Amino acid sequence: MSVNGLKIIDILNKIADVIDENKFYLTELDAAIGDGDHGLNMSKGFAVVKEKLKEDTGSNIGDILKKTGMALVSNVGGASGPLYGTAFLKAAVVMNGKGEMDLFDFVMVLQAALDGIKMRGKAEPDDKTMIDAIEPALNVLKDGVEKRLPVKVTLKEAVDAAYRGVEHTKEITARKGRASYLGERSIGHQDPGATSSALILDTIYQAIAD
Ligand code: ADP
Ligand code: MG
Ligand code: MG
Repeated sequence: MSVNGLKIIDILNKIADVIDENKFYLTELDAAIGDGDHGLNMSKGFAVVKEKLKEDTGSNIGDILKKTGMALVSNVGGASGPLYGTAFLKAAVVMNGKGEMDLFDFVMVLQAALDGIKMRGKAEPDDKTMIDAIEPALNVLKDGVEKRLPVKVTLKEAVDAAYRGVEHTKEITARKGRASYLGERSIGHQDPGATSSALILDTIYQAIAD
């Protein structure tokens, strides 16, 4: 099973819509342990992504992801803009020149994205960041590819792992970003960036499962 560039554009448009639908929720989560702008930052950035992809013919998935990354770097404020932007720019390198993407490509894309986020933000698992949603999802994807499980099953299990990661962020102390200023007072609160990452992965799964 693989998806072409037009489907990738369709998925990115859906991500933009889901982020927009959840912007107050994400902003509320950020208000509790940060500065209350995560939803607004992300919805603004993804609105520009939508705009930038309007004329794209979908022939080069690397180009699509590069446009996405550049739009996020320059239009999402705060910590999450450069982090998500870097994630998409690193993913773009993996897909450069390719018109189709299969599950194996997606594993490499998500690995590159995660490596980019870690390189840029210097956070590790359990620092209460987006990494706590992305890394468990990636591990499930790798396992599914290795065992040759069906794509939809693997994606669904990866999304479940991402949401479990989001739940786990409630139990831990923030060690990176604004929430780290609260120290142990951040315990009990869900990380907004992990939440937006899980929503993005869920949207990808749902678009593939349709
Ligand atoms: P800001 O905190 O600058 O206002 P946002 O509110 O848009 O930026 O994003 C906050 C989210 O960014 C956090 O919930 C966290 O998931 C993520 N984040 C912050 N710092 C880092 C980091 N160093 N590495 C990975 N993710 C981070
Ligand atoms: Mg914020
Ligand atoms: Mg901010």
